[in-house]
Amino acid sequence: AKKLLKKYLTLPSVSKDGKQVEIVGNIGSPDDVKKVIENGGEGIGLFRTEFLFMDRDCMPTEEEQFESYKQVATAMEGKPVIIRTLDIGGDKEIPYMGIAQDENPFLGYRAIRLCLDRKDDIYIPQLRALLRASAFGNIKIMLPLITSMDEIREAKSLIKNIKAELDEKNIAYNKDIEVGIMVETAAASLLADLFAKEVDFFSIGTNDLIQYTMSVDRGNVKVANLYSAFSPAVLRSINRVITEGKKAGIMVGMCGEAAADPLLVPVLLAWGLDEFSMSASSILKSRQIVSLCDSKDLRAKVDKVLEMGCESEIKDYLKKISEELG
Ligand code: PEP
Ligand code: MG
Repeated sequence: AKKLLKKYLTLPSVSKDGKQVEIVGNIGSPDDVKKVIENGGEGIGLFRTEFLFMDRDCMPTEEEQFESYKQVATAMEGKPVIIRTLDIGGDKEIPYMGIAQDENPFLGYRAIRLCLDRKDDIYIPQLRALLRASAFGNIKIMLPLITSMDEIREAKSLIKNIKAELDEKNIAYNKDIEVGIMVETAAASLLADLFAKEVDFFSIGTNDLIQYTMSVDRGNVKVANLYSAFSPAVLRSINRVITEGKKAGIMVGMCGEAAADPLLVPVLLAWGLDEFSMSASSILKSRQIVSLCDSKDLRAKVDKVLEMGCESEIKDYLKKISEELG
């Protein structure tokens, strides 16, 4: 099977009816880039920067961060590199930051909430490192856990101020750098039409979107039966985000685990998802599935899941569609 997939290394990610998408990789450090390239990744769809902050006893400096971001941008040679700003809290703890444990970590002080509260020591150095590294490749900035318009505007205004500072000091950066958001909360999904007018792209984070739509802790095995990308509520939410993003003319990607689910790839493709971001080892398999799909022909078929009320019914139905693809 591995050998058969090898031919997809040099083929574009295009469906039978000519719809082209991007299949890109998720990484946690510059060292992970190699595997993405070896597996035919067309870019980086999610660089989880929190890993630069973990397993050490002090914060990485702006300079250290700049070097890491630059390394990834350079290695990808102009291909898109979406770098997510720090997403700690929740399940990702960093002892030296001195952040008290919340009673409900997933609903608490984390990600963009924490960063906007700690601009001087955390957020500004990271954003400055990202902007400086943007001179070396096609870096895009992605904001995690967005729930409100104010968060988007505040982060964008910070970026604007840092750009002005870099201009003043004659430091190079990409003036047209794209700024997008993770759509991974129920609020962001419901406001997708409005948020789409404020940002350059969406990336759907299904790992959290499932958790925040189903009210189910993503790590709790006792309620894991409810944690499913096939749940009707989650699929309606995903459909909504893609539809609203496309209506506004922005790129819509997905970087949660669902992007590489063999049963969901045809659905996402038919709904118009532009970019699928996943672990390197899933890239070729997903490209094969895309190449077997006729997105136009699939559209009416997969839209039926939006009228189904049971997770199991949806899954069985999608299994049948998948078998028909061959
Ligand atoms: C997600 O929530 O789907 C996601 C990609 O981010 P993380 O798994 O890092 O929360
Ligand atoms: Mg997330």
